Amino acid sequence: MANMKAMQVKKAGGDFELVEMAIPEPGTHQIRIKVEACGVCHSDSVTKEGIIPGIEYPRVPGHEVIGTIDKLGGSVSNFKEGQRVGVGWRGGHCFHCEPCRRGDFTNCQNGKITGVTHDGGYAEYMITPMDACAVVPESLDSLEAAPLLCAGITTFNALRNAGAIAGDLVAIQGIGGLGHLGIQYAKKMGFKTVAISHGKEKEELAKKLGADVYIDSTSDDPAEKLSSMGGARVILATAPNAKAISSVIGGLGNNGNLVIVGVPQDPLEVSVFLLIMGRKSITGWPSGSAIDWEDTLNFSDLTGVKTMIETFPLEKANEAYQHMMENKVRFRTVLKIA
Ligand SMILES: [Zn+2]
Ligand SMILES: [Zn+2]
Repeated sequence: MANMKAMQVKKAGGDFELVEMAIPEPGTHQIRIKVEACGVCHSDSVTKEGIIPGIEYPRVPGHEVIGTIDKLGGSVSNFKEGQRVGVGWRGGHCFHCEPCRRGDFTNCQNGKITGVTHDGGYAEYMITPMDACAVVPESLDSLEAAPLLCAGITTFNALRNAGAIAGDLVAIQGIGGLGHLGIQYAKKMGFKTVAISHGKEKEELAKKLGADVYIDSTSDDPAEKLSSMGGARVILATAPNAKAISSVIGGLGNNGNLVIVGVPQDPLEVSVFLLIMGRKSITGWPSGSAIDWEDTLNFSDLTGVKTMIETFPLEKANEAYQHMMENKVRFRTVLKIA
């Protein structure tokens, strides 16, 4: 079997190193993908820094993968060779734990993670279980679509499950990798869309992405402003800043739901009184499974939601990662592999 190039992490805390390794063979229920594009995500630090215990090294990271199926395992019948597919964070589930038996695959107790429990997309080829694979609509660009498998699905799936219906007031806190997609999804889902960020600089972009209203949190109190508009049915918190997230809770309307997808280091400060009056709630949301990836890609194709990206070649994964970690990227970094 021929060799392929990959960017591998040899130990926790190590750099990405260019290696030549054998192209892997798919097992019975697995699919081999010739990778075209792979997003570089903040969560790649899980593999690079060894944040989750028990990661086996060396490991190839990457969980925002678009490519073409080049070989199917013997028992795979629902995909075809040559099909363009995508792979995200959840790299397969066990089908036999209690949540799986209830069809709640996202909460699988033995869930695998692409690029963490097995090799991911920082490589010319990768293997994925057939339950962790989504078909990509023809018209989507591979590079722009890659981050939809992580940043896209997280905001899309959180918003469509948060309880708002068309016409409701929905606010997106933070305009970055997640937020710039959240604004687009909220608008395309038919919500009255509010973008909240620090300063004036992002106002023009927020409006271009579909925000009906922009709140500059340095000059306006977002909670007061949202309350004066009747209160938000949903606030999607994307910027991982505990103070900023805490400051919007007072902007929830009756039955309002603060859905958090950006993970701050510090705890939130919450007035329970505020939650009880008006029956409000705070929820966390963890992306989703392969069928949710496919829904995200299809909805993005249907409505024209696009990721703003910067691209790097595979060999420049270290520079790409650094660029992303230092918050220099507008808004997602993608490795162009083929
Ligand atoms: Zn990601
Ligand atoms: Zn399971």
